Order: sequence, then structure tokens, then C-alpha cells
Amino acid sequence: MKTALVTGGSRGIGRAICLKIAAMGYYVLVNYKSNLTEAEITLSQIKNDDGNGELLQYDVADREQVNQQLGGWIKANPDNIIEVLVNNAGVRDDSLMAWMKDEQWDDVLKTSLDGFFSVTRLVLDGMMLNRYGRIINIVSLSGLKGLPGQTNYSAAKGGVIGATKALAQEVGRSGITANAIAPGFIKTDMTEGLDEKELKKMIPINRFGTSEDVAHAVGFLASKEAGYITGQVLSVNGGLYT
Ligand code: NAP
Repeated sequence: MKTALVTGGSRGIGRAICLKIAAMGYYVLVNYKSNLTEAEITLSQIKNDDGNGELLQYDVADREQVNQQLGGWIKANPDNIIEVLVNNAGVRDDSLMAWMKDEQWDDVLKTSLDGFFSVTRLVLDGMMLNRYGRIINIVSLSGLKGLPGQTNYSAAKGGVIGATKALAQEVGRSGITANAIAPGFIKTDMTEGLDEKELKKMIPINRFGTSEDVAHAVGFLASKEAGYITGQVLSVNGGLYT
């Protein structure tokens, strides 16, 4: 069974990615942190579109949970190699650095950067044995150019970009690609409250992006045909200059 794992698949960009990857014929493991109701909606949408998958709850920031839940799934399903991994789970908690609390720094770094490490390390073994894999990390414009009020988020996403480039060089010979996608402003819960009317003036395409705009790029990098593209960061930002 061709299997894919999407972290943070219960809402927003992650949900659109789950639907896209399921439409490509993958059995999708939909990870989420706490929002069971939304995760169930993702899974039922997958099934409505004739796809299949299951929910896998764990907090990517908690290495023990990752090892127990994801490690347990991998052990229990030795024939179902995860071929596609999308590290999408992420949070933002903005503050100017002078006022940033320890928890704000730690939560954001642990979710994006530690989460990437804990999840990817577990999945790599199977991909290497299978000599095939597609790893796609959802980063951000903020990780490329840095944004004021987001030293934590810029550091987390910038860290994942560096790790993506290093990992791509480690695993290329095993038929595995590792790439990152850097969205700009995408309409989800994360950007609720931002002034789209004002901010879109900076965006050449003149609108916020949709989750589907990002999922389409994920589908491309997850395809077999994208096997000669690795270590790249693809911006999906409506032309915002980075
Ligand atoms: P969102 O609507 O806030 O959804 C976040 C998703 O991540 C939810 O499914 C949430 O699960 C999950 N999640 C959060 N912390 C988690 C954890 N510790 N363990 C497991 N799952 C966790 O966010 P989004 O806008 O779709 O963002 C998705 C990704 O794109 C993030 O990495 C974000 O940084 C990145 N991004 C977003 C934008 C944008 O404009 N929206 C721009 C650039 C980059 P629950 O539902 O269980 O809480």
C-alpha cells in the first residue's frame, strides 16, 4: 500500500495537502495535535473523494509521543512504507524579541524544527530500505527573509530550510528527495485577523493564497516525476519579493 504522512492535517494547508495526496492514490496518515473534530472532517473528505487513510494523533513537539504513536504505527505496519512525508505542522506566536517569553520561543521552535527532526528520522529508515521517498517541509517566507515580530518563527523555519538542504545531500543516492515550500500569506486560521485588503497591495498577484495553491505545489514535489528536484525551496507567495 502506498502510504503518505501529513503532519498537522486537521485544518488549513495540511487538510488541502491530505486531499491532494489522497487523490494521487496514497493512503494518508492524517496527523493532528488536539482537534479531533477537524481531523475527522479531513478524513471524511478524503473518503468522499474515493480516497482512504486514518487519523494518527500526536504532538510533533513531544518526541516521546512521536516515537510512541508514529514509531508504533511503523512497527505495526512493516509492509506499508511511508513514501511521502509532508512536515506541515506549525504554529506562530509573535512578539518583538525584547518581550518574547521563553515559552513563545520554545513552542514555536519545538513544533517546526524539533517536529521536523523527530518525525523525519523515524520515517527515513523505511524510505532508505525502499530506495524511494519524497520529503516536503512547509516553511515560510518568514524563514527566508526574516519578519519583525517573528524571530522565533523565522528561526524555526530558517532552521528547517537549512536541514532540508543538508538532508537532500544525505539521502539523494537512496532515491529520496527533500524539498521545502515557502508559502506567503495563505488564508487559514493562522492568518485570521490579518488585514488582507491592506497587505494584498504588496502582493503582485493581488490576493492572499489558498491552501489549495500550496497543496498543488506539494503534489508536484511529491510526484515521481519530480525526482530530479531536491534541496530546493519553492516559494508559493503570489510573487512577494523575498
Ligand atoms: P493552521 O490553520 O493553524 O493549522 C495548523 C495545523 O497544524 C493544525 O492541523 C494543527 O493541529 C497542527 N499542529 C499545530 N501544532 C501541532 C503539533 N505540535 N503537533 C501536531 N500538529 C500540530 O495553520 P496553516 O496556516 O494551515 O499552516 C500550516 C503550515 O504552513 C505551518 O507550518 C505554517 O507555519 C505554514 N505557513 C502558513 C502560512 C499561512 O499564511 N497560513 C504561511 C507560511 C507558512 P490541530 O488542529 O490539532 O490543532
